[in-house]
Amino acid sequence: MALYAELHRHLGGSVVPRVLWRYFQRHSTELISRFTEYSEFEDFYTRPRNTLDEYLELHTLVESVQTVETLPYFIYRLLRGAYIFENLAYLELRYTPYLRTPEHLSQAERIDKMTEIVNIVGKSSHLPEYPIITSQILCMHSRLPYEVNKAIVDLAAQNKDYVCAIDVAGGDSYYAERLEEWISLYNYAQNLGVKTTGHLYETTAGCYPELLPYLMRIGHGIQIPLLYPELLKDVAKRGQCLEVCPTTYLKTGTLQDIRQLKLVFDRCFEAGVDIAICTDNAGLHNVRLPFEYENLLTYDIINFAQLKACQDAAFRHAFAWPYTQRPASLLNGLLKPEPDQVLAMQDYSR
Ligand SMILES: [Zn+2]
Repeated sequence: MALYAELHRHLGGSVVPRVLWRYFQRHSTELISRFTEYSEFEDFYTRPRNTLDEYLELHTLVESVQTVETLPYFIYRLLRGAYIFENLAYLELRYTPYLRTPEHLSQAERIDKMTEIVNIVGKSSHLPEYPIITSQILCMHSRLPYEVNKAIVDLAAQNKDYVCAIDVAGGDSYYAERLEEWISLYNYAQNLGVKTTGHLYETTAGCYPELLPYLMRIGHGIQIPLLYPELLKDVAKRGQCLEVCPTTYLKTGTLQDIRQLKLVFDRCFEAGVDIAICTDNAGLHNVRLPFEYENLLTYDIINFAQLKACQDAAFRHAFAWPYTQRPASLLNGLLKPEPDQVLAMQDYSR
């Protein structure tokens, strides 16, 4: 049985259109009044955008309805879908906790409220009927001030039961103005023993070699093999893994054709750089993890052996997977019957 690890999924983008539509129908019909039927809404929600900025705008729609009260509702549906349709054994869910707090509060009050959000997400993610090992990655955000981002790092350090790492998100072209700040925040996180990833080298405007040494994994990173392959040697030496999310680049206008990813995979394999295949925003894209795998095979971007290598890499680079092996090797002993059981089964068939 193949069970998968998902390392890069945003809480905001994880709501599939049907679940969001149902939620609006039940609770805020005014937000969908301009759509006459579901298919129109689905089309609006999932259609490609021209730029990463336009694409990220959509997240605010979902963020506005993901509050203390509604998070358990959305997370329950997220885990149910991930367990039943995606065969996930492991899921790292990422989001900016500050953006789930009420906007009318002061900055200090919103910072205080973030702990509650982390607890709610943590408790809601533990569902005995859908037993996926989950952990949270807290995203610093390029539009938020230094104090808030520092508080996000502190929160990660103080809640290691629920949180496995920090990230930076919100559009990689905006880091340039505050590069020193990001370096100091990552430094701070490392000193507190917090693991690190970051949205970097996703678009051509988001290439900052200065930040690379601070990351254990690289969120996207596709511009490294595409534009700066000379950096791959150091990426391999540092043991960094690229979190590649194939559908995203078509939805954000970063790539025109999914086949452009062949160069990304080829150069990484050649340089010994690990890749974990991820969904980023499975809901927003309406593309679940097994379909990301299948697409890459269909377009001959990777073969089955390379797919397996990427799936192994995902478990190896998972920040909170508690075992040394993939679940398949753990399950093998359970599922492979002993020789005398096989004989007994053959008796039945007579
Ligand atoms: Zn992302």
